[in-house]
Amino acid sequence: MKDRKNTENRRPPIITIMGHVDHGKTTLLDAIKGSTITATESGGITQHIKAFSTQHNNRKITFIDTPGHEFFSDMRKRGVLKSDIVLLVVAADDGVNTQTKEVINIIKEMNLKTIVVINKIDLPNANIQRVKNELTKEGILLEGFGGDITYSEISAKNKVGINELLDLILLEYDLKDITNSEYNNSLIILESFKNESLGNTSLCIIEDGTLKVGYFLHTKDYEDLGKIRVIKNDDMENIKEASVSTPVYISGQNELLDIGDRIFFSKDKISKKAKIKDLEKNMVNEQSIEEMLQNSDNDKKTLSIIIKSDTKGSIEAIKNALLKINLDNVTIDIYKTGIGTITEEDLNTAKTTHSILLGFKVKVPAKITKEAQLHKVILINYDIIYELINDVVDAAESLIPPEFSETFIGSATIKAIFTLSNKSLVLGILVEEGQILKNNKCKIERNGEILYTGKISSIKRLKEEVNSVNSGTECGIIVTPNTEGIQTGDKVTCFKLEKI
Ligand code: GDP
Repeated sequence: MKDRKNTENRRPPIITIMGHVDHGKTTLLDAIKGSTITATESGGITQHIKAFSTQHNNRKITFIDTPGHEFFSDMRKRGVLKSDIVLLVVAADDGVNTQTKEVINIIKEMNLKTIVVINKIDLPNANIQRVKNELTKEGILLEGFGGDITYSEISAKNKVGINELLDLILLEYDLKDITNSEYNNSLIILESFKNESLGNTSLCIIEDGTLKVGYFLHTKDYEDLGKIRVIKNDDMENIKEASVSTPVYISGQNELLDIGDRIFFSKDKISKKAKIKDLEKNMVNEQSIEEMLQNSDNDKKTLSIIIKSDTKGSIEAIKNALLKINLDNVTIDIYKTGIGTITEEDLNTAKTTHSILLGFKVKVPAKITKEAQLHKVILINYDIIYELINDVVDAAESLIPPEFSETFIGSATIKAIFTLSNKSLVLGILVEEGQILKNNKCKIERNGEILYTGKISSIKRLKEEVNSVNSGTECGIIVTPNTEGIQTGDKVTCFKLEKI
């Protein structure tokens, strides 16, 4: 017996409909919506994706009809398509066909929760048994046929079996484990077009939060995308706000938003500059970053983190996201997690373990903030998970020492060595290749072995201080720091270090 999960606080399910052409996807969506969505046009452009919400047993269900499997796979891969259940529509008079097989491959590859919908059962040549057998052959094992994939037999055209299908959708959804979105206040663009009266318009689905007219849109990097002027529901009626899982048309954005993009919204305008300043204010200063470096055996640095959060769910979401950060030279170590206000004890632990202390939607008493500043403990409170993650990535990346590469400038051979009255060594050299440039790095080699690395601090040519000497020229150079043991015949190479 399967357990029905707690259905409270669950966002409405998002259902995607797929199947072979002409097997009745559009007719089924029409039957569910109770209107003819096939005819929906916007600004003269026929909608390629139809998305709408319907009510069943006082619960909302959202349907998305994707234009093609490639699009679906692409969105799935990018993690932006939220589909809880796939409805695989198969016509009873035609059975498993080319595109049915393509969908089956996607379903298997992505391990998608699926309900098989056997349609057109009203037709005299409908053969339900044949459909089931063909599905079994393709590895889609239905309930009662050795598997646990549920199915529904319907006639979309005659509206037979539709209510039972909706019951089944809710039941299957309630049995499913649902993870909360890792993002806050976000939406996914399903389609974009220019409308004569509305301007840039997009069909989108709310992924998290409630979108309201007057809210501001921005990218994840806080690039301003404009202000929401109009929200329309799937019937193109103006509405003031839209909650999670709802498909809506939005306009007001200052550009045509890309399909499949995740966009963020906020009540107040977030200026990129202010945001960066804000982050800088909170960001780790160099001193404390150094303190956080904890060398482990394999030369990897460890960034230790303590997280306090409002709920267990958000801790899990943050933890999962943090553990996915994969950097070559830095390991992220979640030292401790907890629920509730950041306390003196958290602060002390952070201090002694050189951890950064991150809050998510928790209270931070003013006293704790002051103490953290005093003891140089990095304490930042967030209310958006991806900001927290981005900052941790930034902090972790700043622990990785930059890599440099050497760029050859010139080489010379030491012909004579003099000692000045202040004990500095002057190397008399003949430049053989390229140039020798003052204030650049140099190394001195003998038989391929590097004996010394330093800086060329002075170049004297005919008693005059110069900045460079070219190949074929003799001159005297002083390298710092001074070194003993250099002999005539040793090779001097002048080079520049460039950050990769
Ligand atoms: P789609 O390409 O999968 O969206 O298929 P459509 O919904 O456009 O349907 C293709 C054809 O099959 C249309 O002529 C529909 O009227 C017809 N059709 C769809 N569902 C049924 C059904 O349950 N019974 C019958 N007899 N015809 C159907």
